[in-house]
Amino acid sequence: MPGHSVRPYTVLPSLPKRLQPLQGLAYNLWWCWNADAVALFRRINPELFEALDHSPVRLLSSTEQTRFDELAGDDGFLAHMDRVAAALDHYLKAPTWFGEHFDADQDARIAYFSMEFGIHESVPVYSGGLGVLAGDHLKSASDLGLPLSGVGLMYREGYFRQYLNVDGWQQERYPENDFFNLPLIAELGTDGTPIIVSAPLPGRDVLLRVWRIQVGRIPLYLLDANIPQNRPEDRGITAQLYGGDQHTRIQQEIILGIGGLRALRALGKEPTVCHMNEGHAAFVGLERIRLLMEEKKLDLATAMEVVKAGTCFTTHTPVPAGNDAFPPQMIDQYLGGYVQLLGTDRQTFFGLGRQHPQNDGEPFGMTVLALKLANTSNGVSALHGTVSRKMWTDIWPTLPTSEVPIGSITNGVHTQSWLAPEMDQLFDRYLGVQWEAKPTDFAVWKKIENIPDAELWRTHERCRERLIAFARSRLKSQLRRRGAPPSEIQAADEVLDPDALTIGFARRFATYKRGDLVFRDAARLAAIVNNAKAPVQIVFAGKAHPKDNGGKELIAKVVQQARRPEFRHRIVFLEDYDMNVARYMVHGVDVWLNNPRRPLEASGTSGMKAAANGALNLSILDGWWVEGCDGDNGWAIGAGEEYTDLHYQDDVESRALYDLIERDITPLFYQRGTTGCPAGGSGG
Ligand SMILES: *Cc1c(COP(=O)(O)O)cnc(C)c1O
Repeated sequence: MPGHSVRPYTVLPSLPKRLQPLQGLAYNLWWCWNADAVALFRRINPELFEALDHSPVRLLSSTEQTRFDELAGDDGFLAHMDRVAAALDHYLKAPTWFGEHFDADQDARIAYFSMEFGIHESVPVYSGGLGVLAGDHLKSASDLGLPLSGVGLMYREGYFRQYLNVDGWQQERYPENDFFNLPLIAELGTDGTPIIVSAPLPGRDVLLRVWRIQVGRIPLYLLDANIPQNRPEDRGITAQLYGGDQHTRIQQEIILGIGGLRALRALGKEPTVCHMNEGHAAFVGLERIRLLMEEKKLDLATAMEVVKAGTCFTTHTPVPAGNDAFPPQMIDQYLGGYVQLLGTDRQTFFGLGRQHPQNDGEPFGMTVLALKLANTSNGVSALHGTVSRKMWTDIWPTLPTSEVPIGSITNGVHTQSWLAPEMDQLFDRYLGVQWEAKPTDFAVWKKIENIPDAELWRTHERCRERLIAFARSRLKSQLRRRGAPPSEIQAADEVLDPDALTIGFARRFATYKRGDLVFRDAARLAAIVNNAKAPVQIVFAGKAHPKDNGGKELIAKVVQQARRPEFRHRIVFLEDYDMNVARYMVHGVDVWLNNPRRPLEASGTSGMKAAANGALNLSILDGWWVEGCDGDNGWAIGAGEEYTDLHYQDDVESRALYDLIERDITPLFYQRGTTGCPAGGSGG
C-alpha cells in the first residue's frame, strides 16, 4: 500500500500548543458518540457550539485567541481535555471483537458503499433513515473493529434545510458546506498531491478528489467532482444529495460505484467484500467484473461469479416505483462504451438490470442489478424480507416466492449515539461499562432491573424537560424568523408542559406515513390533549422530499391544525428535522408514535432510538415493530391488517389510536405510586 500522507484540510494556527489535542479530537467523529467529548467542546463556548450545529471544527476556527489563552491556563479544562484524548487513544488501541474472533492476518477488507451517511448533524451528507443507518453502521463497525471503509459522495450543498412559510408550506434552503470547516482529511499520494481518480461519463472522464472523514477506527471516503480539472457542468454533479434529475442520479451512481472502487484501489484498499447499501451503489459490481476481466483475463461469467462471492446487498424500498431504474436509451448513453469493455453484447448486459431479460422495453433497474450481482441480499426487517421476496420473485422464475434468495437483517441503531447522556451514566452505574463493549449480552442488560424506579424516572423526566425547553426555544426562533409579533413569540414560552405525557412523531413526511392520522377526529383529539387531569401533548418534526407535494401538504395540515386554539399549547411542529432534533426527541418523549400504512415502512429505526432511552412505542405492526413488540414494551395499533379501502383504514386505525391513548397510555402515565413514578410498570 502506498505510504500516502494525510493531514487535516484545515490547519488551526491559533490553537496554543497545550490545546493541540483538540485538533485530533475534532477530526475524529468518535467525539460525537462520547458524551464526555461532546461536553468538552460545549465547554469551550456553549452558545457558539449550539449555533454552529455542534461542529468542533467550526467551533475551533471561530474561537477567539483570548478564549484559547484562557483555556490553556484552565486546569479543569486541561484535565477534561487530557481525559477525553486519553479515552480516544485507548479506544483506538483496545482489542476488538473482530480481532478476538478472526485471525489478525486475515486479509479481509470490507467496503460499504452508500449514497448518504448520517454521522452527525455537522456533516450534512444525509437525508434520513438510509443515511443514519449507514452512519450507525460505520460507528458499530468501529466499535467491533471490522476492517471496513465507507464510500460515499462529498456534497457541497448536502441535503436541504427546511423552514416553513406562514401557511406551513415547506421551503428549502441549500446552504453551501464550507470545506474548510468540515472534518475533512485530504487523501494525498506519495508525492504529496491530492489523490484523483476518474469515472467514465459519455465522451469524457469525470475526475474526483478523495476526502476522508475519520469515524473512530473507520475511514469514510467521500468523492468530490467539484475540482477545476472538470468541465463546469461536471463540477456540479456531486453538489446535492438526491438533487437534479435522472441524469444527475445516474452520474452520481457511476461516480459512487465505479469512482468509489477506483478510489479504494488508489488508496491501496482494494476490497475483498463490497456491501451495497441500496441499489444506488450497484455499479461497483460492474467495475469489479471489468477489472477481473482485464487484469486476471477471466471471462465475463467467471468474473461475475467471483465478484458475486464477495458482494452483499441491502434493499430498502418496498414499493417498485421507489427503486431506481433507467430507460434503456440512458443506459446506452452512459454505459454503451462500458458494455464493450465487458466484452459482451447489449442484450446480455441489459439482462443484468431486468427482471425479464428478454423484455426490451423494461428499464434497467439498479435493485435488479444489485440482486443479480450479490451473493447475499437482505431486506431490513422480517416483514420487509417477505415483501421483497414477493416484489422480486420474477427474477427467479424457477423458484417459489418463499425461496427467492432475499433474506432479512433487521436494522439496528448505534445505541451510544442515541442515548441521552444522563441515561448513559445511569447505565454505566448499574450495568457497568460492559454494556458498551457487549451490547448483545443479555446477562448485562438483565441488570437494568437494578436501577431503582425513582432514579430511572427522574432521569427520564430531566430528558423530557430538556425536550420541552428545546421545543420552546426552536418555536421562538421559528416565529421570529417569520416576523411574528412579540406577544406571539413570548407566548411560545407557555406551550407544552414539562410534566405532561409527551408523544413524539418525527419522520419523513411521505403520504404513506400518515403524519396527520392523529387529527382524523379533531374533536376527539382535542378532548384527549386538553384533559385537565391527564393532559397529552405531541411534538412533530419531519421534512418532505422537495418534489413530494403530498408530503408537503401533510406538513401544512399538521402545522395549521397545531395553530388552532384547542391545540396551540399542546401540539407543536419543529422545523428542520435533523439528527440534533431527533436526539432531543428520542431522549425526551414518553411515547414514540409511528402510523404508516403496513407494509410500507421497511424498518423504521427512530422507534429503536426512543426505546433505548426508555420510551414506549405506539405503532402500527410494520417494519421492525412486528418483531420488536412483545406486548409489554409498548402498543400495537391494530393487529397487522392490510387494507384496500384506505379511507376505511384511516378511520379504523385512528380510532384504535385514540382508544389506546385514552384507555391504556394516559392511565399508565398518570397513575402514580408513592415514589411519584407511574405505578403500572413492573415493580412500581
Ligand atoms: C433515525 C432517523 C431517521 C430514520 O428513522 P425512521 O424511523 O426510519 O423515520 C430519519 N431521520 C433522522 C434525522 C433520524 O435520526
